Amino acid sequence: MSQDVLAQKIAAIQKVCEEMNAPAWLFEELRKPKSIVKRKFRVDINGAPRVFTVIRVHHVNPFPTGACPYKGGLRFHPAVTEELLTAFAMDMTEKCALADLQFGGAKGGIALDRDSVSHSELGLITEKMAEELLKANILDPDIDVLGPDVGTDAEVMFGIYNRVSDLNQISRRIANTAAVVTGKPVEHQGIPGREDATASGLLTQLTKYRDLSGRFKERHPKPTVAIQGFGNVGAHTARLAAMRGYTVIAVSDVNGGLYNPAGLDIRAVDEWYNGPPDQPRHTFHGFSGADAIGNSDLLALETDILILAAMEHQITKENAGAVRAWIVVEGANEGVAPDALDILAENDITVIPGIAANVGGVVVSFLEWSKNRGVRRHEVDRIPETLWVQQYLSSITEKVIRDVYRKSVEMSSTLPHAALRLAIERIYTRLKWKHRYSH
Ligand code: NAD
Repeated sequence: MSQDVLAQKIAAIQKVCEEMNAPAWLFEELRKPKSIVKRKFRVDINGAPRVFTVIRVHHVNPFPTGACPYKGGLRFHPAVTEELLTAFAMDMTEKCALADLQFGGAKGGIALDRDSVSHSELGLITEKMAEELLKANILDPDIDVLGPDVGTDAEVMFGIYNRVSDLNQISRRIANTAAVVTGKPVEHQGIPGREDATASGLLTQLTKYRDLSGRFKERHPKPTVAIQGFGNVGAHTARLAAMRGYTVIAVSDVNGGLYNPAGLDIRAVDEWYNGPPDQPRHTFHGFSGADAIGNSDLLALETDILILAAMEHQITKENAGAVRAWIVVEGANEGVAPDALDILAENDITVIPGIAANVGGVVVSFLEWSKNRGVRRHEVDRIPETLWVQQYLSSITEKVIRDVYRKSVEMSSTLPHAALRLAIERIYTRLKWKHRYSH
């Protein structure tokens, strides 16, 4: 599966490079990662030593590394492989190009089922992993900055920051240890708005796309939305979508979900799912006021909008024909397999691609990283930080979808194809400067 994700990603990049008539070096550069670091370490789990390997992939940095770092998430999930992380690192390079952020693309992770370890064991894994990454000289605000992804959160990010700071007391190598990770708790050098930044940016783009295209004007004023995934991206998207005038008719997690064609009471669903603080529930099971629905049925629901906020390749050649939404939004990286895109396009289904739709996380991460490195902003005393973050996020994410939409009109192509083309054109221009190629 993960090899297929990478192979399809490379094929899509190759198609664009050929279409651009780009020199051979560009595809060679984009199809391979700059480096893949793997570090093995041991942690006692349930009294017995277990061996873990953290993998960190650096794809391409079109900017001077050492001034502009690689940036990308850290995933704890059993399906993590080198190939999968490489495909996601490619996505990150493209996202940063679309959002005009001076970062290279990276991704990392450990093949780990979070539910298989205790809370304190997770803390130990996080600390050991941070030590290994430090030893590899890649955890550094000017070289590589990590952020949350599937299976990691503010607590894991804080754990890394805490460990790096502790060890840095001796070496004093890193000037601003808080800037080695983003997505930290607000109480510990995080930034307000990072938690729901991906969801917020995604919805801003969805609404802007509906305005720009005018195609969906005829739909009723509260378009229906089905959301797959109820973690950071999915749960915040459900909450914000309900607040921004959408009717959320279905949500799900890995074990299935809830469906109510008249609309779910998202606040009640959220409270049920989370349960009391001392006894988190993390299941939809037992919630009244909605029917149970499986993930494959959710993907095929009659809905205006389908938002993918779980894992990669949820829509493939096999099930693309069953999708009945008008718009599919990729909150999840590679949520739609590239070879399913043609089927969706033939059925007149618009896809807002992940490299545009989910840039909100890295946009606010950029602000957090800048703040941690001591970059001051002029408005500091004039508008509160929360408002400033929101304004920055919505103006960048709106620009991303405007640019991608304009490119798709110019090229008479789909949004995913236009987004990839635009990203690669920008990366190409920057790489020419960096490597002094003549064309
Ligand atoms: P998360 O771990 O917080 O949540 C993942 C959700 O997906 C959970 O509800 C889980 O139960 C569900 N899930 C897992 N496997 C599933 C399956 N096979 N079918 C249906 N549901 C399944 O992760 P997240 O941070 O919300 O990330 C979700 C996606 O968004 C990922 O692709 C991630 O790379 C992408 N993304 C996240 C961020 C971010 O800021 N967290 C930013 C950009 C992109």
